[in-house]
Amino acid sequence: MSTQNIAVHLPDGSVKEVPQGTTPLEIANSISPRLAAASVVARLTPVTGAAQATAAADESEAGMYAAQDAAAPRLVDLATPLMEDTKLDLVTEKDPDALKVVRHSAAHVLATAVLELFPETKLGHGPATDAGFFYDFYREKPFTPEDLAAIEKKMAEVVARDEPFMHEFAPREKSLEGFEKDGDFMKTHFVTKFTLPGSEVSFYRNGNFIDFCRGPHVPSTGRVKAFKVLSLAGAYWLGDEKNPQLQRIYGTAFFSKKEMDEHFARLEEAARRDHRVLGKQLELFSIQELAGAGLIFWHPKGAMIRKIMEDWMREECLKRGYQLVYTPHVARVNLWQTSGHEGFYANNMFTPMELDDAMYRMKPMNCPFHILIYKNSPKSYRDLPVRYAELGNVYRYERSGTMHGLLRVRGFTQDDAHIFCMPSQIESEVAACIDFAEAVLHTFGFTEFKVELSTWDPNDRAHYAGSNENWDLAIRSLDNVLKQKGIPYKTMPGEAAFYGPKIDIKLVDVLGRLWQLSTVQFDFNLPARFELEYVGEDGERHQPVMVHRALFGSVERFFGVLIEHYAGAFPLWLAPVQVGLVPISERHAVYAEKVEKALKDAGLRVETDARNEKMNAKIRDFALQKTPYILVFGDKEEGAGTVNVRTRGKTEQVSLSLDEFIAKAKALVASQSTEL
Ligand SMILES: [Zn+2]
Ligand SMILES: [Zn+2]
Repeated sequence: MSTQNIAVHLPDGSVKEVPQGTTPLEIANSISPRLAAASVVARLTPVTGAAQATAAADESEAGMYAAQDAAAPRLVDLATPLMEDTKLDLVTEKDPDALKVVRHSAAHVLATAVLELFPETKLGHGPATDAGFFYDFYREKPFTPEDLAAIEKKMAEVVARDEPFMHEFAPREKSLEGFEKDGDFMKTHFVTKFTLPGSEVSFYRNGNFIDFCRGPHVPSTGRVKAFKVLSLAGAYWLGDEKNPQLQRIYGTAFFSKKEMDEHFARLEEAARRDHRVLGKQLELFSIQELAGAGLIFWHPKGAMIRKIMEDWMREECLKRGYQLVYTPHVARVNLWQTSGHEGFYANNMFTPMELDDAMYRMKPMNCPFHILIYKNSPKSYRDLPVRYAELGNVYRYERSGTMHGLLRVRGFTQDDAHIFCMPSQIESEVAACIDFAEAVLHTFGFTEFKVELSTWDPNDRAHYAGSNENWDLAIRSLDNVLKQKGIPYKTMPGEAAFYGPKIDIKLVDVLGRLWQLSTVQFDFNLPARFELEYVGEDGERHQPVMVHRALFGSVERFFGVLIEHYAGAFPLWLAPVQVGLVPISERHAVYAEKVEKALKDAGLRVETDARNEKMNAKIRDFALQKTPYILVFGDKEEGAGTVNVRTRGKTEQVSLSLDEFIAKAKALVASQSTEL
């Protein structure tokens, strides 16, 4: 057979002519040995034919074994012989797909270790997950924690042996025979289900371990440099409780020990900041079993922070030309029929309740109520834009068991507003919404955020409400505003709701986590359903454009994010108790009263610990409550009219006159400073 040449297209646009059968590793080496060493796998994209989007490798069995789309990019081992013209990407650690390959390879290492220690074990499957990997095993005796420790140790040996992952093929029928003979019921199932009769079945071998798998893997076990066995869970084979119970061992893997340590440090830090734990410790809020899941009780300290958030929001709304409204919590089902919620949203609503005159439902959204206010009197172009804002309580049905602290609830408060405007006003209204959203994020201490613009799929026109002109205008306006402001954003085609395009703003917290909070959403549906109108300059009736926007999103959720972002150590202007007073002994009670009154008169939130306790115990209690300032005073301070100031997070103490301290604290509150 004469060797043919194939063309390999590289990402820099160059094309390499190489003999058929050349491997990606050889090509990497010909470019630079360093690149070869850094490469984990290769991504091949067929040169001919329209490439489809890659089917994301998922954790399901089908995701692991089913045949792949031939036209889609696919990941292959570095040792795979290239047989035809192709585009080639060498996937290094920088590529998000690379980590999944390392993690799946770690699952093979895990299974290798398990079989070496417990040869009677039968294998299920072992995919990578978002956080690591798992492997399902069947063994009559459950694994013990000691077994897991021994498995992790054995894995280190398998890694140290640096066994190459060899890709092999065997006839399907012969393979099935072997699996059946060995009682490998799960492998028998996978091969039967995911391969075709008469085909060759794909296996991977490392050392003596062999597994049915389509790959790809890292070149050798030595590339699984940092891993950890995490936990054990039970799962029924194929999710059916009539089937044998499997033991699923979870683990995780990273490119380096350093990255793994950072990952666990982040998890620990996130646990330390858990808003449910801090909410209890700092007496901010609770959820009461007797009242029901997903319903939030704001305790005095949490309620104080909420009041500050709400006051700020209402003041800003008024400054920015909104009008405040209040609307009921329930309405007749007829209203929800008109709005369409009864049809499209009923599954997310509380079930109806029957009164003597009609059926009623708790409101899942405020929009129809604001619309009724708009409709209550005729509007002319001179009245527009109309901007109604409300901190509106809404109720949505979340399945029991899905609620999570303040983040996922059944009752919450939206900082909701609806803007009714003319098409010519869209762009300036959108710009104002974006400014407002930025002000919210910056004021509450977030510096980084990500923006997504969800647009329609114009090929699916029938699915969307509203005219082409309005969609084009709205998308163009959202686009223009973001461009003019120099805000980077990601366009998400086909992600818009059927009733209009939107901008979502996701803030980035101190741990780098993304939180979806603010949204600016067009609506071409409700104005039509409610037959909204205004009289234009031309004397004719027109339909206004409607924008929904929420900036905190949900007050509850935003508060949850704030708690975690600050780890409960709120900036002075938000802290429920800003200053803790510690008189050294009971004889300083009179001076304590004087200090307390002076601070309160200055508008500061103060608490005096007048208990007959040791000074250090009182200081410790305020510190545990993360109180920004603790003022300690005894004879010396009383004589001099001063206070000894301890600042949260700082070790040095300063002595200030009462007036100096008040001036400093007032300035920090006025500037909404996040520093003390
Ligand atoms: Zn595999
Ligand atoms: Zn709305």
